[in-house]
Amino acid sequence: MIDPRSAYVHIPFCHRRCFYCDFPVVPLGDRADGSTSGSVAAYLELLQREIASCPGGPPLATVYFGGGTPSMLTPVQVEGLLEALGHRFGLAEGAEVSLELDPASFDEARLAGYLAAGINRVSLGGQSFDDGVLADLGRRHRGADLREAAGWLRRALRRGELASWSLDLIQGLPHQSAAHWDGQLRQAIALEPPHLSVYDLIVEPGTVFERRRQRGELALPPEDLAADLMEQTWARLTAAGYGHYEISNYALPGHASRHNRVYWSGAGWWGFGMGATSAPRGRRSSHPRTRAAYAEALAAPAPETGHAPETATTPEPGGMPFDEQLLVGLRRREGVNLQRLARQHHLDPSLLEDLRRRLAAYEQRQLLCIEGPRWRLADPDGLALSNGVLREMLAWWQELEPLSPRTPRRAAAP
Ligand code: SF4
Repeated sequence: MIDPRSAYVHIPFCHRRCFYCDFPVVPLGDRADGSTSGSVAAYLELLQREIASCPGGPPLATVYFGGGTPSMLTPVQVEGLLEALGHRFGLAEGAEVSLELDPASFDEARLAGYLAAGINRVSLGGQSFDDGVLADLGRRHRGADLREAAGWLRRALRRGELASWSLDLIQGLPHQSAAHWDGQLRQAIALEPPHLSVYDLIVEPGTVFERRRQRGELALPPEDLAADLMEQTWARLTAAGYGHYEISNYALPGHASRHNRVYWSGAGWWGFGMGATSAPRGRRSSHPRTRAAYAEALAAPAPETGHAPETATTPEPGGMPFDEQLLVGLRRREGVNLQRLARQHHLDPSLLEDLRRRLAAYEQRQLLCIEGPRWRLADPDGLALSNGVLREMLAWWQELEPLSPRTPRRAAAP
């Protein structure tokens, strides 16, 4: 089993909860700041304790501070966490160290502090340039904040102080038209981000958006318009020189996120903090999603490792169940070597023929391409219409073993 060389650190604090968000977050209010908040200080102590109690491993090649709103932490606080990771694992030469930043939660001086602390890649949660849309999403920042923050990042990149940065956008918003979305894409390209992540809006249970939908107040684009918007994104961004390397991700040459590739490749990673998922050495676990439960789990560490507060554990090759590896693999432009994946999970190879027959219509329409052992969705049509294929695959997998979808019919283990 390969030792992971990546770590995710969850910073749960936000100023407020956005209307579509179901992440494990702790809203602290619009004026809160990590330097003065007792909640932040107490949580950082827990994180330090968890990192220190981790068994350790080879130097980390990627570190990702996600959230939440990690830019609510001061540079000194981020540096303290990086030092703890460095002490436990070491940081490999040229490691990619990413931090998620929210516009309006940092300024240029704070950005300089993060870079001096060791951050070399930033993910900017822009989501939209339209103030009305941002208000409707429950976001705290406005389009002007986003443009200003992007200007600081662009300058830091030009000065060589930052290796790369990414802009997040959300598509498929209520009332969104193709013309509106095109305007958003043009504004994004004008900011010159080396990397763009474009996510579909998903209405999650328990969110304000779900309640709006139940009341009939959320006019989401129909599925075919959502697919058209994805193709529009592909056309606009590839024409601007971005490569489409994953269903939601585009990058200029040399700017693909190394950390994200770890998740998609099925390689293991360490996860720290409440709600974080961890998959070191083929052992997948999810940390509790509240601070109290996380603190409690830390106080009673797992006996085998002395670390990892867990709510669920699944030993799997690559730390991921077969269905999850299949789905994340198909999100990548290069697809997935399904024969190898099936072998790793000791699946009967004849099952893949069943699946192929079931997906024949997609293959005939050239949305799904099967090239020897490799299965991939055509770019852009197959990726844009991926929901149907992925739904069908999940149904196939669940039908194999309704009582235990994690352990369907398997070939004898070698
Ligand atoms: S800023 Fe991000 S993590 Fe925080 S509530 Fe909004 S969407 Fe969720």
